[in-house]
Amino acid sequence: MRKSKITAFLTALALGAALTGCARDAAADTTSKRTIKIAYLPITHALPVFAVKEALEASDDDLQIELVKYGSWPELLDALNTGRVDGASVLIELAMKSRQEGIGIKAVALGHKDGNVIVTNDSVQTAADLAGKTFAIPHRQSSHNILLNDALAQAGLTIDDVNVTELAPPEMPSALASGQINGYCVAEPFGAKAVTIDAGHVLYTSEELWPDSLCCGLVLTDSYLDAHHDDAAHFVAAYEQAGRDLTPDYAKQIAVDYLQQDEAVLDLSLKWIRYDDLAITPETYETLCDKVVAYGLSDAPPTYEEFVASGLGE
Ligand code: ZN
Repeated sequence: MRKSKITAFLTALALGAALTGCARDAAADTTSKRTIKIAYLPITHALPVFAVKEALEASDDDLQIELVKYGSWPELLDALNTGRVDGASVLIELAMKSRQEGIGIKAVALGHKDGNVIVTNDSVQTAADLAGKTFAIPHRQSSHNILLNDALAQAGLTIDDVNVTELAPPEMPSALASGQINGYCVAEPFGAKAVTIDAGHVLYTSEELWPDSLCCGLVLTDSYLDAHHDDAAHFVAAYEQAGRDLTPDYAKQIAVDYLQQDEAVLDLSLKWIRYDDLAITPETYETLCDKVVAYGLSDAPPTYEEFVASGLGE
């Protein structure tokens, strides 16, 4: 009796140990991959983030990306600035402003090049027609604000000659269609959407106003960069490669998979953007800083050395 009790006890112990072992193995399986959390908005400007997630999964890489979707730039910025994510694809001017205010983040690559348009309704056929009109941008700290300033400068106008309003990107096509605003500039595909529903036309593409323009950046927190330098370098290299892999056909496929937008809208939008060279060079950053200062977005943007973690992707 006593012997059988001891046997039962030992059996239970062995079973428990086996179960514990199984549980530990299972846990090891689910945590064997290291995870980097990246925040994004559902726009074509974030396609390389989706593409690199797909690429790392396809190659069964030890590093995996957890995408965290936000509905607006202020929400995304709050998550980034409070460390709830490791990084983000974000308007580069917003990130520069955060850095200027002491938030520990650095830009490691671009989100895209070009890829913006100024769309207007029939009341605006030239830059001079913008005078006295209402124009929407997503945020004061944006290349969309800079492009508006660039367009106004074409006609000798300044930002004081228009009524600027900030709207969330998805609200802009309907605001233009209803006549609430006369034009806007915002992350894609919302410019293409206005054209596709015949609510507006392209007044300027970004490269007509600012060749090689910057807009979104991929940023990582200093805490992630410090604690996971090798993973950060691996991630950035894979990200830049994913950008080069975004051929028109593949970009369309990724956009269809990750953005809930009509294919006609995506077809038009993707004609305006490129992802093949996502490194941030000192020259293009200097041009950006000059515009940021000239148009009053910031008096003292961070220097290249302060803001850009260069060379990670090489
Ligand atoms: Zn952008």
